[in-house]
Order: sequence, then structure tokens, then C-alpha cells
Amino acid sequence: MNDSINGKQNILNLGPAELRGVVSAYGEKPFRADQVFGWLSKGVADFADMNNVPAALREKLAENYYIGQPEITDSRESKDGTVKCLFSFSDGAMVESVFMKYSYGNSICISSQVGCRMGCTFCASTMDGLERGLTGGEMLGEVLAMRNHTGEDINHVVVMGMGEPFDNYDELGRFIKLIHEPGGYNLSLRNITVSSCGIIPGIRQFAGDFPQVNLAISLHAPNQELREKTMPVAKKYEFNELIQACKEYTDATGRRITFEYALIDGVNDSRQCAEELASHLKGMLAHVNLIPLNEVEGREYRKARGENVLRFKEILEHKGIAATVRRTLGSDIDAACGQLRRRKSNNCD
Ligand code: SAH
Repeated sequence: MNDSINGKQNILNLGPAELRGVVSAYGEKPFRADQVFGWLSKGVADFADMNNVPAALREKLAENYYIGQPEITDSRESKDGTVKCLFSFSDGAMVESVFMKYSYGNSICISSQVGCRMGCTFCASTMDGLERGLTGGEMLGEVLAMRNHTGEDINHVVVMGMGEPFDNYDELGRFIKLIHEPGGYNLSLRNITVSSCGIIPGIRQFAGDFPQVNLAISLHAPNQELREKTMPVAKKYEFNELIQACKEYTDATGRRITFEYALIDGVNDSRQCAEELASHLKGMLAHVNLIPLNEVEGREYRKARGENVLRFKEILEHKGIAATVRRTLGSDIDAACGQLRRRKSNNCD
């Protein structure tokens, strides 16, 4: 974990047990740690506002720690209530987060890394490579800053923004534990979804560590040949092995996997692709989320045509595979995820 500024550490990385160690070292009673943790989880951004914590402790904490909520560099609100924020952390690193309203509650899509090194050819987040991973405290900071900004409760978290969560596994794990803490944000594990491009060792570890957290896998192709063209990660973790690892995951956890499939015109949206995909997923505890491609500036791919999206869905359903077409929220505020950050850093907004 390297999340410090001027020698001060981001206190959002600490759970209650670690905070107890800190306050004890300052000669304070352990319950003070729980008070501090409670305030942090409420989204307090200044130690001075922790009004039931003794001033001496607040000062001591402020000498050694800072509260690492990101600042809002840009924010856009859609007519449908979606809010997209470009957040910047203490070192200037920027990520995007999106707040969305659904019938079942409010959700946030957070980033797990600044940039990405997975190299998917249709994705904006990976165009400048990986800058760094976020710490668990910084991921928590995205949720807290978004809740402060919108003034709304957030009861679902999807780790589906910029970055590959399993390329930053330990910090992802720290985040999940932090946000699940009963004395803190107290988010149910079942209300968290992690999306991966298919890093097989990560899937295996995740099944053991967090069997109650939902898993989504970005598949985007029905076979190895096509997948390795758009997703370089497939060269390392091959299609058939990935499907096998997903089966092991559902066997071990009893939980359904969501397969994400971005439909790209003329690339992966044919009748044959749908049939081939169905044959691989047959009998699996799975669900396919079809996403009409978000077109990215500087990428040649175009979104699949409406009738082909529908045909794809019908073929899957006809073969007994549950499929939905992702509702597009916030399409009036920006295009594909990752683009807001690119515009800012290239100064073309
Ligand atoms: N690294 C994680 C999270 C990435 S973003 C993963 O690969 O799952 C979340 C989803 O958006 C992934 O399924 C990703 O493949 C998809 N995505 C990326 N660029 C997209 C685009 N231009 N249009 C539609 N979906 C896209």
C-alpha cells in the first residue's frame, strides 16, 4: 500500500482493528477507534468534524493521516439521474465513477485502477496504459465522495469502472472488507459486484475469499480466436480454460456468473457468434448481459445495429441462456467509460 502525501497516510485504508492499534499507541481507549471509523464511513472529510472524539486525538490523527476522499475535477448529471464524476486523488491521478438509479436502489460504478494494462481494443480506459492501482481506501473514498456529492444513499457497488480489479487483488480485497464492516458502511456482500476480464487465478482466489460477492466476467467473444483479437488477456488465459474456471466458480459458490458481452458491429454480433456462445454456456449457472458497444473516439469499432442486438438475445434465449440488454443510462452526459478522463488529460474538453 503506497497511499501517502507529505508523509501522511490515507486513514481510509485502515479498518477498525488497525485503527484500534493506532489510537492505543496514542494512549487512547480502543472504543475511540470505532468512533473514528464510524465518522470516516459517514463521509466526514475533516478530523475536526468528529465532534465526540477528543481534540487531542483528532490533532494527533491529523498530524499523521489524511482522509483520502478524492476531489471532484468534473461532474455531469444526466436527465435520468445518472451522475458521472471525474475524481482526482492527492497525487493528481484521475479516475471516473458513475452513480446510477435503478428500481432496486442506487448504485455506484467505481474504478479499481488509474488506467489499465489489459489492452482490450474496444475500451477507452486502457488507451494510455496503467498509471497505478488504487488502494482499498481510495476505492472507499470514491463511494464516500459520490454519496457526499449526490446526497443520496448508495446501496450497490459495482467494481466495473476503469482498471482490472484482479490486477489489483489485494487492494480490491481491502476495499470489500472495509465497506462491509458492520461498524462502518455496512454494505452487504451480496450488493457488491466485481467485473474481471478473465484473470483465472483471480477468479479462483475470489471464489475462496469472497463467495458472497457477485462476479461478472467480460467475455465479449464466443471463442478463443475472436477473443484474443479484441482482448489480449485471452492469450494468457484461454477461452476454454476461462469457461472451465467459471464452472468451477459456480460449483464452489453456488452463485450465478454474469457474462458481459459488448456487441460490436460486424465483429462479434453474428448469428453464428450467438449460437457458439450459447453452446459454451449451456447448462451453466450463468446470465449474459448484452451491452451495445459504447463508441470510443479513436477506436474504429461501431455499435451493433439494434436488430442484431435483438437477434443475438433471441438466439441465446431460444437456447435456454438467460440474457438481458443493458439499459443505457446517462448517454446524454458522456459516451464510453474512460472518455471523460482522456478528454481532461488531453485538454480537449
Ligand atoms: N477490467 C474489468 C472492468 C472493466 S469495465 C473487466 O474487464 O471486466 C466494465 C465493462 O465494460 C467490461 O465488461 C468492459 O469490457 C466493458 N467495456 C469496455 N469498453 C467498452 C465499450 N467501449 N463499450 C461497451 N463496453 C465496454
